[in-house]
Amino acid sequence: MLRRTLLPLAAVLLALWLWLGATPSDGPVVRTALVMGTLVEIKAYGADPNRLDTAITEAFAEMARLEQLFSAHLEQSEIRQLSAARGVRTVSSEVAELLILGQMVARRSQGAFDMGLGRLVALWDLQSESPKVPSGEQIGAALRGTGPESLTINGQQVKKTDPALQLDLGGIAKGYAVDRAVAVLRQAGVKSAAVNAGGDIRLLGDRLGEDWRIGIQHPRKAGEVMATIALRDRSVVTSGDYERFFEQDGRRYHHLLDPRTGYPARGCQSVTVIAGDAALADALATAAFVLGPRAGLALLERMTDVEGFVITDDGQRLVTTGLDGQLQWF
Ligand code: AMP
Ligand code: MG
Repeated sequence: MLRRTLLPLAAVLLALWLWLGATPSDGPVVRTALVMGTLVEIKAYGADPNRLDTAITEAFAEMARLEQLFSAHLEQSEIRQLSAARGVRTVSSEVAELLILGQMVARRSQGAFDMGLGRLVALWDLQSESPKVPSGEQIGAALRGTGPESLTINGQQVKKTDPALQLDLGGIAKGYAVDRAVAVLRQAGVKSAAVNAGGDIRLLGDRLGEDWRIGIQHPRKAGEVMATIALRDRSVVTSGDYERFFEQDGRRYHHLLDPRTGYPARGCQSVTVIAGDAALADALATAAFVLGPRAGLALLERMTDVEGFVITDDGQRLVTTGLDGQLQWF
């Protein structure tokens, strides 16, 4: 029997977005919008609410603009055009920047992170009403031509080695958009803000002179926080097998696909990464999840200025050395 389970988005956001402590008297301006298929919340503190509101409007507009470039669903997006292209194609500076960062993570993760899995992602079609496990033959066909060498990037010139390669930036684009939203807020003079795109979070400055306290979603208890962490001026991104999945014959099939097998990666329930940039944290969380607990944690340890933790499939917590003792567990 096929059972499709999706956590209500609102519950996830609520859990991820716990502000502990007293509500300040000069409250923040908080707004939400649906961007990149995700409910995005921007919260900003400052003396002039009108100015904050205008800055938030600009930040959402920037995220919506980037969605037009990066989406695998919008027919006119640059990524769709690149997927359809043969030969060398010139891309925007934003797409080039994102592809270069993604390629770096692809190499550092020995190909576990792969932006060329568009055919495989479409085959599993986790977003559909009744997803099914594809046949081995279909999976083999969808994997053909993928791998870290499948894209050549030279400045803004991009070439796919295999013309049939289809790009999917689902593992990194949201983080990139969060970074850009924060850049827009900063340019508008905002000193204290948090942008949360469905669990991809970046913090600008502090919160009323204190660290922000971020709640991390429990991978097996919907709407419950597993741990909190106090941070400022950092990004926190979680990849989990609970975000999008279905169950068949007692097995969970989720959206984090292992390019080595073509099947959902096994071994982790979730991976949380803390880094300066949300785009890097986003790509690394996906990469570490796909690598599995030990190799995933080792990847996070190898990266400079990156911390994180893994929840294994049997609920164990593996924490990078630099983060040890800084998490409050529930
Ligand atoms: P995230 O929620 O950031 O971990 O990204 C998950 C999304 O990334 C999926 O829904 C796919 O669109 C895409 N994806 C799945 N597997 C991979 C992979 N191995 N490398 C890169 N992107 C992936
Ligand atoms: Mg990711």
